[in-house]
Amino acid sequence: MTLAADTIAAIASAPGAAGVGVLRVSGPAVPKIARTLLGRTPQPRHAHFAAFRDAQGQRIDHGLLLYFPAPASYTGEHVLELQGHGSSVLLDGLLRRVCQLGARLARPGEFTERAFLNGKMDLAQAEAVADLIAARSQAGARAALQSMEGVFSRKIDALLQALIILRVHIEAAIDFPEEEIDFLADPAITNQLEALRDQLAELLREAQRGVRLNDGLRVAIIGRPNAGKSSLLNALAGSDRAIVTDIAGTTRDVLREQLSLDGIALELADTAGLRETDDPVEREGVRRAHSELARADVALLVTDLQHAEHDLALLMDLPASVERLVLINKIDLEHETARYETRADSLWIWASAKTGDGLDALREHLKQLAGAGSGEGVFSARRRHVLALEQVATHLDHADHTLRTTRAGELAAEELRQAQHALGEITGNYTSDDLLGAIFSSFCIGK
Ligand code: GDP
Repeated sequence: MTLAADTIAAIASAPGAAGVGVLRVSGPAVPKIARTLLGRTPQPRHAHFAAFRDAQGQRIDHGLLLYFPAPASYTGEHVLELQGHGSSVLLDGLLRRVCQLGARLARPGEFTERAFLNGKMDLAQAEAVADLIAARSQAGARAALQSMEGVFSRKIDALLQALIILRVHIEAAIDFPEEEIDFLADPAITNQLEALRDQLAELLREAQRGVRLNDGLRVAIIGRPNAGKSSLLNALAGSDRAIVTDIAGTTRDVLREQLSLDGIALELADTAGLRETDDPVEREGVRRAHSELARADVALLVTDLQHAEHDLALLMDLPASVERLVLINKIDLEHETARYETRADSLWIWASAKTGDGLDALREHLKQLAGAGSGEGVFSARRRHVLALEQVATHLDHADHTLRTTRAGELAAEELRQAQHALGEITGNYTSDDLLGAIFSSFCIGK
């Protein structure tokens, strides 16, 4: 543990909020600051009532002073929390006083960064702190809380341990070349690797759900012009419509909308103009729509009875991770009944965007996909975690292939080493300063 040499301070509550205002201070100068403000040495982890005074002895505010000596604190350093009245004038005055006494203003996320650097939490847990604060739904907040408490990190650690054991076995075999081939052919090794890949696949699914809970489910709506895409978007958004945005960087080919379905965040992208064409301008639109589809969690094809078979081509060539939904729209014109059914790799829903008939089934299904109603073990995750887990999967696939074909132990061991490295990037065992900077600078000040 390398404790920081300086002391940081920040307002840790929303100023102006009625009631309590909180100032947080962390670092080596805390005991001195606490003694000066209280007029005596504070008792650790006790609430002292104190008058906070400026350098001239004038009262700034009065309130509670709590002192947490290192290492039993949020950051692992000496921490002081001052609770005064929730006024920005008073809090600013208090902050100025604390800075006179040896603290400096904290950067965004600096308290949590110190907690990470001091081993109080790993990187995935630190990210969950920010995700908890930014949560857009109750389900998302619950999931972030779980990650902050280490549910995700413990699963990563379990995987890491299994990986290390396997790596040790394989590396031991390399050290005895005369027995290496026999050893690597041993089904115990391949079984172990198989179990590891299963464990990883499960974790990857859970992490993907965690990302959806965190960021919202990304649904790309596709279909011919006039299929009813806009009508569907409006029907789904209804009074829940949050923000209608043209997110910067996207073109008018893709219209995005954020909405919430019973506390689950959804991001809908209406990819207009998705059809086969020779026109170069339109082709560009189609290309963009395709890339939108490939980055979505769900591809929702809007079609009708006449065109369904032909339009299914639009769902071809999508990555396996994209869920496929087919909406047979305009059933009111066909006197069809609303229903749904699983076919091959997609779910088909018969509905009418105009009358709303059958849309409940669609809403329910989207909520399921977004991770709604998931139980206790559900945790939040970020896209960078999923990407790292996918890298781990690729390395394990290569290791498995090597062991089954060439039996080159050194190559398999190298793949496992790289898999271990990718896992370590999630919890922060191996991370660059750039990555840490990017992660913590997105926090708010005071956290
Ligand atoms: P988009 O081009 O795919 O966005 O299609 P629109 O949402 O603009 O719809 C095209 C036309 O079909 C409009 O006149 C809609 O009112 C109509 N429409 C959409 N959904 C339905 C439906 O379920 N039933 C009926 N009867 N008309 C619909």
